[in-house]
Amino acid sequence: IKWTEGRGWHDAELVPYAPLSIDPANMTLHYAQTIFEGLKAYRQPDGTVATFRPEANAERFQASARRMAMPELPVELFIEACDALIKQDRAWVPDSGEASLYLRPFMFASEVGLGVRPANEFLFIVIASPAGAYFPGGVKPVSVWLSEDYVRAVKGGTGAAKTGGNYAASLVAQAQAASHGCDQVVWLDAVEHRWIEEMGGMNLYFVYGDRIVTPELTGSLLPGITRDSLLTIARDLGYTAEEGRLTTEDWQRDNANGTLTEVFACGTAAVITPVGSVKSERANWTQGDGEPGEVTMRLRKALLELQTGHAADTHGWMHPLG
Ligand code: PMP
Repeated sequence: IKWTEGRGWHDAELVPYAPLSIDPANMTLHYAQTIFEGLKAYRQPDGTVATFRPEANAERFQASARRMAMPELPVELFIEACDALIKQDRAWVPDSGEASLYLRPFMFASEVGLGVRPANEFLFIVIASPAGAYFPGGVKPVSVWLSEDYVRAVKGGTGAAKTGGNYAASLVAQAQAASHGCDQVVWLDAVEHRWIEEMGGMNLYFVYGDRIVTPELTGSLLPGITRDSLLTIARDLGYTAEEGRLTTEDWQRDNANGTLTEVFACGTAAVITPVGSVKSERANWTQGDGEPGEVTMRLRKALLELQTGHAADTHGWMHPLG
């Protein structure tokens, strides 16, 4: 779907996947005015297909657009575009289990010209790809690196928007994490480098017995849809679920004294991933016994059962496509 200043959204089309031809002076290549989303379509037990909370993705896409001085795509158009692609690619939705059809809606400046200002033309596209189970051999805890050298987002910055620049700026820290033998980066706040924010592509949860806590939305972390869904699902299962503030010192101390029983990350791609060990320049510890915890696995099962249609959709989160 195209957007042109003065004309709005126009010329929606469904076409076979193919490379785009890009002018060397395309504004996105220079000024990175680009945003994206990620969501999944799951096969349901009766053979139909359904997406999980696409309105939430559409609304976050609008928030990202506002932050990046881009036009807002109406929620209905976002969902309609995803639905049209899924219907076309229905045969590519895996038959069962945790596998899904991953959808990647994105928007970028299509105007040609050099000069730093919001573009006057944009292109919104949705592509899709089958995605297997994230842990085909069973859930495996990840090791994380607490990044003290780099920051992902600052107050007033673009941390809460899903824009490419945030991920580009993350890559060097991801490489640093890998050089320390860690799978993922945990981002800390930009001022004191001690308040826990999120991971590279996932939000974090801390399990204190039957109370689970996730870092509050400070404006510099992404408001994950999985994070938001788990606040509700955890309460449905009888846990106390809340947003709060935690430092790296809290994490290390509460793990050592046994009050912090589990830590997990959550996001569309991996659903829920246990955290097994933590490293930084100054410390190195195993989270709990390093194995996936009971609460983590219970929440993971509850969320996946909902998404794959094996549990009742009591919150009206599933969007059926027939
Ligand atoms: N944080 C970041 C930086 C992400 O890229 C993602 C993935 N979209 C998340 C958190 C998790 O968000 P969601 O649950 O909506 O996938």
